[in-house]
Amino acid sequence: MLSDIEISRQTPRRPIAEVAQSLGLAADEYHTVGDAKAKVQLQVLPRLASNPCGKFIVVTAVNPTPHGEGKTVTSIGLTQALHALNKRVCACLRQPSMGPVFGVKGGAAGGGYAQVVPMEELNLHLTGDIHAVTSAHNLAAAALDARLHHEIRLGAEAFWQQSGLRPLNIDPERLLWSRVMDHNDRALRQVTVGQGRNNGPEHSSSFTITAASELMAVLALSRDLQDMRQRIGKLLLAFDKDGQPITAEKLGVAGAMTAIMRQAIEPTLMQTLNGAPCLIHAGPFANIAHGNSSIIADEIALKLADYVVTEGGFGSDMGFEKFCNIKVRASGHAPDCAVLVVTLRALKSHAPKPPEDIGAVDLLALQQGFANLVWHLNNVRRYGLPVVVAINRFPQDTEQELAWLQQAAIAAGAADCVVSEAFSHGAAGALGLAQAVLRTLQQPAAFQPLYHPEAGLRASLATLAELGYGAAGVSLSTQAQQQLLEIQQLGADQLPVCIAKTPMSISHDPSLKGVPHDFVIPINELKLNAGAGFVTALAGNVMTMPGLGVTPGYLHIDIDAEGNICGL
Ligand code: ADP
Ligand code: MG
Repeated sequence: MLSDIEISRQTPRRPIAEVAQSLGLAADEYHTVGDAKAKVQLQVLPRLASNPCGKFIVVTAVNPTPHGEGKTVTSIGLTQALHALNKRVCACLRQPSMGPVFGVKGGAAGGGYAQVVPMEELNLHLTGDIHAVTSAHNLAAAALDARLHHEIRLGAEAFWQQSGLRPLNIDPERLLWSRVMDHNDRALRQVTVGQGRNNGPEHSSSFTITAASELMAVLALSRDLQDMRQRIGKLLLAFDKDGQPITAEKLGVAGAMTAIMRQAIEPTLMQTLNGAPCLIHAGPFANIAHGNSSIIADEIALKLADYVVTEGGFGSDMGFEKFCNIKVRASGHAPDCAVLVVTLRALKSHAPKPPEDIGAVDLLALQQGFANLVWHLNNVRRYGLPVVVAINRFPQDTEQELAWLQQAAIAAGAADCVVSEAFSHGAAGALGLAQAVLRTLQQPAAFQPLYHPEAGLRASLATLAELGYGAAGVSLSTQAQQQLLEIQQLGADQLPVCIAKTPMSISHDPSLKGVPHDFVIPINELKLNAGAGFVTALAGNVMTMPGLGVTPGYLHIDIDAEGNICGL
């Protein structure tokens, strides 16, 4: 089989304007960027406001291995198959971060014969949205440090006279805003800034990957440009010496940040290998952020297409949970059906003693790890959604194992269970899945969220831990308890929770495979994300800046004699 990038490059593409027209966009509602991408203008939103919405399909998975189990491949394969069946379909996906692209996981444009193309443009810079988020985020950090510097250097009185600005009296001990960068860079997890004469005050700080920036979540959760402007104004950057919040609005930087993000708010239209439309927008990770593409892209797609396919990152305990409890709240668009992706290798990795080679034939390990799938099936069903289980087939998977899993998944309550061969055969390999989804969409869905944030943060955390993960409860560190009090005092106690935890286990502990029981989720830190509109709870030892391993993906990436990118 050809490599992903060879398939991407060798497949003829439709002109992007034709894709835009087929989706139902008027000529003045998008502008093309090169011949493979188009930015969709937000003036389309009011025109579409009264259109009925299409069916909304959310793709999720079991707890994955570090390589990913094929949600993006399956989402794109399903989109390609629905398109091949002449359905009006659009996929809504996140923009890949360069962290995973050059790290262990690789790109996020799908793979094999299920891809969004051109994959190198999607995986690298696309239309610059991630750069815009990075720049706007770092402008706020620079502005905060500079203001602190000048107020200290001049003193409050002279600062006021010279600038005409009321001193903010920023507490140097309570700076909350880090810097961001779109790479896995462990060396930047803890840094000291402000070193040297005239650069101070010196203080410790940190870098987070851009995919975990609150601004990325703001981009993904904003309804339109004015809403994004308001949300950016609410970003909490620091406290002053009287304990009052210093927001981006107070610092006077919110307008400029929004200006940097002006084009990033427009989703980017691309196409699948067989020419189906795909909107790419925003890229929050699902473990350390809320893990879903933008609500603006969903809104446009739902009003233009009859079927919209989207993906929540990692397992149903992560991106899907946040889709249901954070994103649906912000967008008002509940899903109609879920596709739960599973691989034989992932289930084998959940056996009590996983086989040395999880790719090898091992029916016993598969049966032992099956409980993880049942847990996710029940988890999704709890939200009132019918679930189609999609077994993402790898070359070494045997008929016997696949047949066992299919009947077991249906016996466990799946509306249907089909083998997807989208990776090897594209649309043709996902026709069975598409038909199963179409049949399942006939069933009524009665979506309900897991918890109601109005009950307060403590209750939300407890429900998430106990019902959302099957934990015995939560325990808050002393620091988290203080932060909870502060969040309550700031009047933000009724926001939904965004848990940051390992995606490798249903619990907070990556070594607890299968279906863990009797664990207590430790909340080390609570962080108010007033702009995004949620509170991040850090469960266990979570890093918001990934690192590169010993054999990172960048080792294989290069350009050939013709200047083409290879190895992606
Ligand atoms: P997820 O979205 O669940 O994280 P992806 O769809 O990105 O997973 O797939 C993870 C990686 O595995 C990608 O490199 C993809 O090309 C590869 N992959 C997915 N499905 C298959 C398959 N059936 N056969 C071979 N490789 C696959
Ligand atoms: Mg993915």
